[in-house]
Amino acid sequence: MSDLNPREPGVMFWAERDTLDSIAALGVRCGQLGFGPAYPLTAETATRWRADLDRLGFTLVTLFAAYAGESYSSIPAVAQTVGFVPPETRIERIGRTLALSDFAARLGVPSIACHSGCVPEEHRDPRYAATLEAVREVADRCARHGQTFALETGQEPAAALLEFLDQAARPNLGVNFDPANMILYGAGQPLAALRLLTPRLLSVHLKDGLWPPSAPPGALGSEVALGEGAVNIPVFAATLAHIGFTGPLNVERETDDESVRRRDIARGIALLRGLTMPRAPEPLA
Ligand code: MG
Repeated sequence: MSDLNPREPGVMFWAERDTLDSIAALGVRCGQLGFGPAYPLTAETATRWRADLDRLGFTLVTLFAAYAGESYSSIPAVAQTVGFVPPETRIERIGRTLALSDFAARLGVPSIACHSGCVPEEHRDPRYAATLEAVREVADRCARHGQTFALETGQEPAAALLEFLDQAARPNLGVNFDPANMILYGAGQPLAALRLLTPRLLSVHLKDGLWPPSAPPGALGSEVALGEGAVNIPVFAATLAHIGFTGPLNVERETDDESVRRRDIARGIALLRGLTMPRAPEPLA
């Protein structure tokens, strides 16, 4: 990743939905790659991805895990089904994440990430300690591979996540900061959250969104194209520069409509290029 520029635009993309050629065709040379639960994390698929990365001169900074049985339909559904919080799927999901760490090691990718689940508000909730243990186990496997482990932000207030990270007490554990999630889940102002989580910042998503509606209760806000939501992307990007963050700005767009997704990712990249690469002045006549 040494040849990347600070805060170079990248893309968050998925092994089941995208080819590396289609992402590189957007004009980026870095990003984060997610794997759904059924994707085979084998030596063969690792060899294939590695060959594509080398052929295209593409750098992956993070591999993401997503799990079977997760629902993002409402805030309560997320709290019940996502990450390491639900006990009935915890062991299987820990296993999948350990496998992703091993897979990232084969690919030479320095970080893995996931939604670890909404940190339970009540620390005496047995799911709190169990989620903490799950995160430690994954972080320790990552440490053996020289990797960091990033938890996706936004499903709880930043202060609760920070306390959880402190209690986990693993030096290679941090966050993948997603400013839109803070808004979609009504979890707090993203810029204040970013400042609080700066010491733990490993990677970022550039995603935008609108605050949840007042009804029905528990409804999520709506994700929108970059620059069209409540994040204030120019200020967010400037703040990342100000705090000294140098990793890629990974554009993320989560919609099932493939044409909207590709259009908005392309526009998001253009928006970021406009922010970070000012146009040369017009030549004098
Ligand atoms: Mg995200």
